[in-house]
Amino acid sequence: MSLLIFFGAPGSGKGTQAKKLIEKHGYHHLSTGDLLRECKNDKTHPLNSIISSKMEKGELISDDIVNDIISHKLSQIFNASIIFDGYPRTINQAQFLSQELKKYGKVISRVFLFDINPDVVVDRVVNRQVCKNCGAIFNSKFNPVKEKGICDICGGKLETRIDDNEQTIRNRIKIYNESCSDLLSYYSSVVYKIDASQNADIIEKEIIQSIQEDKSLPIIG
Ligand SMILES: [Zn+2]
Repeated sequence: MSLLIFFGAPGSGKGTQAKKLIEKHGYHHLSTGDLLRECKNDKTHPLNSIISSKMEKGELISDDIVNDIISHKLSQIFNASIIFDGYPRTINQAQFLSQELKKYGKVISRVFLFDINPDVVVDRVVNRQVCKNCGAIFNSKFNPVKEKGICDICGGKLETRIDDNEQTIRNRIKIYNESCSDLLSYYSSVVYKIDASQNADIIEKEIIQSIQEDKSLPIIG
């Protein structure tokens, strides 16, 4: 059983890797957003009424409530392999998570940092075109369609997302990197840095290898 944390700015490809581990290797995916939605939709969840009311009013969900949700979820799946994604977000949450895992005799086995050069994300994202009809994703630079503006698969119209512009992307990555620097220090002994500009299959192999080989950790410092 492995307990992993994924850190990576938007566009780093961590979602793709999480999906692979879930589908091929039976991992559970714990993201705060999903857990909040799950809690809101489950009337039997002990935090259902407080979460529903806060979400309906658009109020901020505090650190403590997020911790309670994680704690409840862990009590159900503590024996599973888990990817924590978007949690912990603060040192307070990281300390809470360590304490919770201790109850079950567990520790975080690996923290993966999907390290990405902003230039690479800009190239990936700025030229991205999505089919309005079937959702297929193309890239005018790396994966161009045969006929301009038309989906190769279904013939639907392609569109570029408005927020996919360069400055937005660079800002998002900068903010992300600043927000997780303390957490990376907290987990420094188990952080494994991945060159996220590599091909997805190569990254997958590297992750699996790193999980299996407990010892030789290229630790960042
Ligand atoms: Zn299409």
